[in-house]
Amino acid sequence: MLTLPRFEWVAPASVDELLAHLAAHPGESLVVAGGTDAVPNLKHRLHEPRYLVHLGRIAQLRFVREGADGLDLGPRVTLTQLTREPAIVRDYPALAKAAGLVAGPQLRNMGTLGGNLCLDTRCTYYNQTWFWRQALGFCLKKDGVHCHVVPQGKRCVAAHSSDTAPVLIALEAEVEIASHAGRRVVSVEDFFVADGIHNNVLAPGEIVTRIRLPRRSRGIATGYQKLRPRGAIDFPMLSIAFAARMQAGVCEQARLVVGALAAKPRTVAGLDALVGGKPLDEAAIDAVARAAYTQCKPVINIPYDQDWRHEMVPVFVRRAMREALGLPPRAAEAMAVAS
Ligand SMILES: Cc1cc2nc3c(=O)[nH]c(=O)nc-3n(C[C@H](O)[C@H](O)[C@H](O)COP(=O)(O)OP(=O)(O)OC[C@H]3O[C@@H](n4cnc5c(N)ncnc54)[C@H](O)[C@@H]3O)c2cc1C
Ligand code: SF4
Repeated sequence: MLTLPRFEWVAPASVDELLAHLAAHPGESLVVAGGTDAVPNLKHRLHEPRYLVHLGRIAQLRFVREGADGLDLGPRVTLTQLTREPAIVRDYPALAKAAGLVAGPQLRNMGTLGGNLCLDTRCTYYNQTWFWRQALGFCLKKDGVHCHVVPQGKRCVAAHSSDTAPVLIALEAEVEIASHAGRRVVSVEDFFVADGIHNNVLAPGEIVTRIRLPRRSRGIATGYQKLRPRGAIDFPMLSIAFAARMQAGVCEQARLVVGALAAKPRTVAGLDALVGGKPLDEAAIDAVARAAYTQCKPVINIPYDQDWRHEMVPVFVRRAMREALGLPPRAAEAMAVAS
């Protein structure tokens, strides 16, 4: 049986109280919202904080507000709530879908949007017990000096497996970050960095206080597709979010984001040159799928064949694009994967 390490439990009642605690104890605290990722990681001794700081009493962090600039979501909004919130289902359906594909119902009831965004990266050599990891000499991300996936690598390439992050990037969402010193806003795309040891820009003492879905992304064509071993519970082996602003059948702007391959979701480059000002017909869909295949190179950071994951990239890109455009899946692609 895996037990929790010793820690002191802190449950602030307001954001000010929370930020004051984090400022007084930089680097000694782990923030916990739903705990669905943090608690298993604590049991594996992946985090060994002095303080566990629970957000569950802070009502200020749980809200859904429509404003002039878009829809603002508090980080404590649960994944279940995201799947049901009328404004999200109506205006940002790919986000509701992605939230509904996370884990299973109990975990979605507890798991929050903030926790999903700030999810720790995952790797075959990291999400293991202390005993397992020490037998291999640990690794770069925790307690060791070598990466077992890219042995000469200086950066961790563990996978960021959040289902909502690729959709939020495709929708050009923003994150508000707060600390005792003040607040700043960054795009969700810039929130992430390509190093799995700590794959976001949060400094010690900072937390996520708001996620904004911009008004300009309301009602645009979106699709989200997830490849996973089983139809429930499992993290993605690959995830694809597609968003396109269409005008009179012509694509004005398109974004394609590929998740679960590396520490940072990858925004496929060059889409505007490829499909901007054109209809998204079969040729355009194939061109985007080819671009994604060329730009995405899976590594063996999770226990699934990297070549197979690579071959699935264009299949799932086509699926996500067809979903966004309201087209039925192609028969050959429906048969290409079992999920
Ligand atoms: C069996 C299983 C299957 C899962 N499958 C999936 C899946 O398919 N897809 C998926 O995306 N996830 C999956 N998860 C992971 C997890 O359940 C979800 O990502 C969930 O949304 C995490 O939210 P939480 O509130 O529980 O986060 P926590 O566990 O509370 O926190 C996760 C991380 O986020 C940080 N954090 C939380 N809130 C904030 C904040 N406001 N500001 C700064 N940092 C914050 C914490 O410090 C911690 O590092 C799975 C987990 C399990 C156990
Ligand atoms: S990618 Fe390398 S450094 Fe990162 S968790 Fe895996 S083995 Fe460790």
